[in-house]
Amino acid sequence: MSKGPRPVLSVEEAQAHILSTVRVLDAERVALLEGADRILAQAVTADRDIPPLTNSAMDGFALRGEDIAAGERKFRVVGEVAAGHQASVEVGPGEAVRIMTGAPVPPGADTIVRFERTRSENDSVVVLDPPSVGSNVRQAGEDVCAGQEVLRPGQLLRPQEVGMLAAVGQLQVSVIRRPRVAILGTGDEVVAPDQMPGPSQIRDANSYAVAAQVRRYGGLPMLLGVAHDEEEVVRQGMRQALERGADLLITSGGVSVGDFDLIKQVMDAEGQMHFWSLNMKPGRPMAFGEVGGIPLLGLPGNPVAAMISTRLYARPALLKMQGHQDWSERTIKARLAEPIGRKDGRRHYLRVYLRETESGPEATLTGDQGSGILNSLVQADGLAVIPEDARHLPAGSDVQVILLE
Ligand code: AMP
Ligand code: MG
Repeated sequence: MSKGPRPVLSVEEAQAHILSTVRVLDAERVALLEGADRILAQAVTADRDIPPLTNSAMDGFALRGEDIAAGERKFRVVGEVAAGHQASVEVGPGEAVRIMTGAPVPPGADTIVRFERTRSENDSVVVLDPPSVGSNVRQAGEDVCAGQEVLRPGQLLRPQEVGMLAAVGQLQVSVIRRPRVAILGTGDEVVAPDQMPGPSQIRDANSYAVAAQVRRYGGLPMLLGVAHDEEEVVRQGMRQALERGADLLITSGGVSVGDFDLIKQVMDAEGQMHFWSLNMKPGRPMAFGEVGGIPLLGLPGNPVAAMISTRLYARPALLKMQGHQDWSERTIKARLAEPIGRKDGRRHYLRVYLRETESGPEATLTGDQGSGILNSLVQADGLAVIPEDARHLPAGSDVQVILLE
C-alpha cells in the first residue's frame, strides 16, 4: 500500500484517526507532587472537616454577640488564644478574649471584633464600631466536610487540586501514567550530536527537538539514536523501542518518496500502515500506523515539519493517553502584517512573530518558510494557520495563531 495511489488526509481527519487508535494508559501511584499536571485516577474524600473547628477570620476580640446587641461596649479581657492552640477560657457576659486569625473561637463567644475597631483601656477593651452577631467567624467544615468527595477521577491536578490533596492528607495519589515515547532518527547523513559530522553529514536535531516536545506534553522521551537507511537497521530500532516498553514510537525522516525512505516499507512489513500523506505544509509526508502493537508516528525529516507534526499529531495523542479530555489548541487572533498568497489548496502553518499593537496582535513571517529552516521556528512566537481555501490574504487579514509558548 506504500506505493500506488495515496489517500491524502486533512489535518482533522489525521488527528481523528490517530486519536481513535491510541488508548488511555493505566494508572500508577505516585508521590503527590509527581501527580501535578496529571489526571487523577481515583476519587478522593476528606477524612475530616476543614477547618476542623469554628475559628476566627481576624485578629481581634472574641465576645458574645448578644452583649453587643444589648448595647454593651466595654469588655473585660479574660484571656488570649492563638492559632494552633486550644481555647481554654470560657467567655462570659461582659467578657472578651484576645484571639488571632485561625484560632478556635472559645466557648461562649460567637462574634469577633477586629483590633482596628477597638481601643484598649487597662485590662478592658472598648468596642468602637460594633459588629453584627456572628461576624468574622469561620464555621467548622465550611470549606470541606468529613466524608465529602473533594476530587473525582478524571480531574486534572492543577496546583489548587494538589493543595486540596495535601489538605486532606493524600500524599500518594493514583494518576494516569506518563507515556513512554521511543524516538528514532533516520538517515545516513544524520549523526548523533555528540559526534563530529563529516562534510556531508548533519547533526540529529529532530530527536532532541521532538523529545523536548514530548516532555512538554507529559511524555517520557527515550532517545534511540539514529538508524541508517537500511531496512534491517530501521527494524532493529523498532524492536528496541518495543523492548524498552515504549507506548509510542516516533521516527523522523524516511517517509517521503526518496530511494532510501524506508519507514513505510518497514511499517508495512512489520505491522500496519494507516496513512502517509497529509494536506498540509510543511509536513505533507507523515506516516502513521502500528508496529508490535504500539502506534508509530513517522515524522517527516525536515526539522520544522517534524516539529509541527509533533505539535499537531503527537500532542493530542499523548494528552489522550494520559487521560486528558481536552486537547484543543488555544489560538489567538492576529492581523497579518503582510499579504500572503497560497495556491496549492493545502493548510499552511506559517512561522510568525507577534507584536502587540493598539489594535491587537500583529503577525509577521519569520523569514524563509522552508521546512528545513529551523531558524524560522527559533524566531517564531506562533504558527499562523492559513486555511486550505485561502488563496490570497491581504495585509491586515485576521488569522488564527497557535502560540509556541
Ligand atoms: P528525509 O525525509 O529522510 O528525506 O529527510 C528530509 C530532510 O530532513 C533531509 O534534508 C534530511 O537531511 C533532514 N533530516 C532528516 N532527519 C533529520 C534529523 N534527525 N535532524 C535534522 N535534519 C534531518
Ligand atoms: Mg532520510
